[in-house]
Amino acid sequence: MIDSIFVERDVLDHPVSQKVINRLKNADVFEIERYQEMFNRRQQNFRIQKQNPALILAKKYDNFVLPAPSGFGIDAQKNYYFSHMYNCIYDCRYCFLQGMYSSANYVLFVNYEDFFKEITDVIAENTNDSITFFSGYDCDSLAFEKITGFAEQAVEFFSNFNSVELELRTKSIVSDTLLKRSPISNCIVAYSLSPSNVASILDHKAPSVERRINALKLLAKNGWPVGLRFDPLIYCSDWKKIYSELFCQIFSDINVARVHSVSHGPLRYPKDMYKKISSLYPDDKLFSFPMEAKDGIVSYGKEIEEEMSLFLQSELEKYTTKNKIFRCLV
Ligand code: SF4
Repeated sequence: MIDSIFVERDVLDHPVSQKVINRLKNADVFEIERYQEMFNRRQQNFRIQKQNPALILAKKYDNFVLPAPSGFGIDAQKNYYFSHMYNCIYDCRYCFLQGMYSSANYVLFVNYEDFFKEITDVIAENTNDSITFFSGYDCDSLAFEKITGFAEQAVEFFSNFNSVELELRTKSIVSDTLLKRSPISNCIVAYSLSPSNVASILDHKAPSVERRINALKLLAKNGWPVGLRFDPLIYCSDWKKIYSELFCQIFSDINVARVHSVSHGPLRYPKDMYKKISSLYPDDKLFSFPMEAKDGIVSYGKEIEEEMSLFLQSELEKYTTKNKIFRCLV
C-alpha cells in the first residue's frame, strides 16, 4: 500500500511516528529535514504521483486550528477546522485537494498533542459561543485511521468537551474505532454521499455508496449522531430521479433522530483551481460540461444551482425537519 515513508528527523522518535512505521512494516523509511522539501517542490505531477504516493511524517508548528471558510458550517455560531493530514487515499475526480497541492504524497502531522492543546485554547476563548470543529478538511477523517489512530484520540479528547461539536467527515467504512467505544453525543460522523452511479464514476478508490450507507446506518444504530453531506451536487440528465432514489435508500431503515444534520452544496471552484484540476483530466466527463465563470468562481451557474438546491430542499423535507437541512456555499 505504501512503499516509502519519509520522516522528519525531529519526529522520528515520536510515539505516533513509531506506531505508523510499525504498522507499515514493509515500507522503506528515509529521514528528511522538513516535509516542505518534498511536498512543496514545484513541477511535480499530481496525477502520476497519485498512483503510488509516499507517506511523509512531519511536525506542525502553527495554525493547528483555523476558522472554517464562511458558508462551510452547519448551525454553530463559530466554525473551525483542523487538518492532521494533507491529501487522501481516495481519488475523487472533483476533489479540490488536486488543485491545492502540487504533490499527491500524504503528509501526516504526528504531534497530535499540539492540535488538542490549541483546540482547548479556542474552546476557552469562546465559552459563550456554540462551536463546531471540522476534521477532514484536507483529507478524509477516517480513511487512514488504521494507520494514524488520530480519530480515536480526537474522539476521546472531545468526550471531555460536550459543549462543542466535532465533525468527522468521511467516505470511509472503517468505523471500528467508533463502534468499539460508547458513542459521544457531540461527535458527528458525517458521510459524503452521491447517487451510486455518479459515485461509481467519480469517487475513485472510495467505498461504494451502498457500503457507506450501511456503515452510517450501523453507526446510527450504535447511537452515533450521523451527518449526511450531499456536496458537491453533480448535475446530469436524470439528477432528480437519482437523488430522490438516494434519499429513499438512506432514510429507509434509519432512526431519523440519529440524523444530526443534512447539508448540500454546489460544485464550485475558484477559477485557478478549476483550471489546474481540469487540466489534470482534460478528457473527464466532469470537466466537459460548459461551466460558467463569474466573479472568479467556476460553477454550473446560478440557474442550475438554484434548481438543484430547491429540489433537494423539498425532497429532504419529506424525510427530516427543515431545521436540520443546510445549504453550504463555499
Ligand atoms: S474523499 Fe474527500 S478528500 Fe478524499 S479524494 Fe474524495 S473528495 Fe478528496
